[in-house]
Amino acid sequence: MVRPPFDEPDPKDLEVVSIQLGRPARGVIGIAARCRCGAPTVVATAPQLEDGTPFPTLYYLSHPAATAAVSQLEANGQMASFNDLLFQDERLRLEYRNAHESYLRDRESLGVVHEIEGISAGGMPTRVKCLHALVAHSLAVGAGINPIGDRALELATWSPDECACQLTEPTQSQADR
Ligand SMILES: [Zn+2]
Repeated sequence: MVRPPFDEPDPKDLEVVSIQLGRPARGVIGIAARCRCGAPTVVATAPQLEDGTPFPTLYYLSHPAATAAVSQLEANGQMASFNDLLFQDERLRLEYRNAHESYLRDRESLGVVHEIEGISAGGMPTRVKCLHALVAHSLAVGAGINPIGDRALELATWSPDECACQLTEPTQSQADR
């Protein structure tokens, strides 16, 4: 769990993230959560990329096994269930709105970008539109902030407590050399 300000990412971390994403990592300003083995699971991205593109998704799930597990939840219709739950549960709605505000505070501490003011991620504050963004938020800030991200993480077959990195992440072997 790491919240802003972030330590500058290590070149090795950026290399791993690029492998995870299958493309060069852009605008990464820190590693917000890691697997047990040290591999990045959530990257923090600048609110504005170098080419000027506004980027609302401060916390981005980069880990392939985590991403796949969350995609599976989405494919199983979990987003509709969460939206129903939000509709029914006033307390959950309030917690979810607080998560949205917290997300914006974290991002705005790194810079305010007018195009994305008030826009967080994952459908917050009133809808559930992307579980990847919500799980990334939960992994970055820890349990108890994002109630939907927390629930999704509990339901997912992937957990940050068990390494499922396989051979895609060279972090440890490179560190040993
Ligand atoms: Zn791992």
